[in-house]
Amino acid sequence: MKNSMLASLMILLFVSTSIFSQKKDPVIENIIKEATNNSQLERLGHELLDVIGPRLVGTPQMKTAHDWAVAQYGKWGISAKNEQWGEWRGWERGVTHIDMVYPRLQTLDGMQLAWNPGTSKEGITAEMVVLPMVRDSLTFQDWLPNVKGKFVMVSMKQPTGRPNYNWEEFATEESYQKMKDARDEQTKTWRENIRRTGYNTRTIIAALEEAGAAGIVASNWSRGFGVNKIFSARTKKIPTVDLELEDYTMLYRMVEYGDNPKIRIVAESKELGMVPTFNTIAEIKGTEKPDEYVILSAHFDSWDGGTGATDNGTGTLVMMEAMRILKKMYPNPKRTILVGHWGSEEQGLNGSRAFVEDHPEVVKNLQALFNQDNGTGRVVRLSGAGFLHSYEYLSRWLYAVPKDITQHIETTFPGTPSGGGSDNASFLAAGAPSFNLSALNWSYWDYTWHTNRDTYDKIIFDDVRSNAILTAILAYMASEDPNKTSTEKIILPINPRTGKQRTWPTPRSPQRKGGL
Ligand SMILES: [Zn+2]
Repeated sequence: MKNSMLASLMILLFVSTSIFSQKKDPVIENIIKEATNNSQLERLGHELLDVIGPRLVGTPQMKTAHDWAVAQYGKWGISAKNEQWGEWRGWERGVTHIDMVYPRLQTLDGMQLAWNPGTSKEGITAEMVVLPMVRDSLTFQDWLPNVKGKFVMVSMKQPTGRPNYNWEEFATEESYQKMKDARDEQTKTWRENIRRTGYNTRTIIAALEEAGAAGIVASNWSRGFGVNKIFSARTKKIPTVDLELEDYTMLYRMVEYGDNPKIRIVAESKELGMVPTFNTIAEIKGTEKPDEYVILSAHFDSWDGGTGATDNGTGTLVMMEAMRILKKMYPNPKRTILVGHWGSEEQGLNGSRAFVEDHPEVVKNLQALFNQDNGTGRVVRLSGAGFLHSYEYLSRWLYAVPKDITQHIETTFPGTPSGGGSDNASFLAAGAPSFNLSALNWSYWDYTWHTNRDTYDKIIFDDVRSNAILTAILAYMASEDPNKTSTEKIILPINPRTGKQRTWPTPRSPQRKGGL
């Protein structure tokens, strides 16, 4: 009896302190409720990633995604438009089918690389050849005619397809160390050999193509099980495919053992000429200070090995969901709230750089920008980005966010401005207060970033939801703030490497005509 009375008294005390420690703001309460009880994240993720798919600049899917976003905002009563900022080499991926046809039949796991010219429906069937160990560029030139009519394997044969963490768990210490030493040695030897050919890993491709190779077979392993990084091709006329480590190393061994494997590559992509490139911009107009802006930012484009789920599907979902919730729960913001879904971030922050260049009036009157672009995880880091007074406003805004979200966030003030990496850098370079919502990595770098495994199933919806709440509340607080944020910069420290004082990054122009 006594114990239970004590317990109820403690509960009462706990409840009352939590009520009075943070004054409840109905807008914030509604934001949390809406995000929790009426989340659209799963549906949006499905439509964007499963149905539209990857969003490589210059592809029809990229344009479909822009149109989808505009239509989606329209349904929520938010005005949105696609703003053209440039043009790009148009290209559409077709069927890639790669089979080993000799000495036995096996369908191989791989894909054509972007902006690669396609093959016919029948494809190309040829034998394989690996790069030889050469003494110097002359021996390489002597060997070069051997590639005529063959597929050339241009990547090192990895000694293991198991990631380090798997070795660490199961191998004896000696055998793990032995593998790592051997791989380091092999990698060094491989690099030195490429150098001796007189080319580098890029220029050698052109030399092989010129010498009459039938195609290029590469394997850009991403240090995890079954995961490769997928970028663009460097060949002008012949197919380039990336094969997963398992199949690539099998073929490599077969060549080395003299089994003369043959493969067939069908890669039916299409060239579409030059096509326009866009940013999707949506807006909730400010009522008191419509000429001051809060921007939600996430690049919309992706590489196309997977569906760009965590790079940057999740950042896109966070911003779309935050906008939807803001429109519903905070329809008349003090300042104008914009969202920028940038095109062609992957080729050099092109969409956001174009926006900065084309909209100086927005950049000059930016209250704050929040960008997200490093995967599906909950936000764990927020830096003041080199603004002297960022602590004052950012920590005040963060205080309004529920503790179960902010308890994971480590803040750094005043921080330093990032010179690149994602679209916040385009705005920072122009001196505008722009902040990156840095996520927990969830094996981002090895498993999903620019890989063939960047797909819907990797999304951690609880974390994405928490990021949407965080973003919506930060946007609300930034919009409501009685003061315009200070953009006074810190004096940057001396770079210990050069002995010179660091300088604030300067704006760079986008590439407005790309892919050629
Ligand atoms: Zn990204």
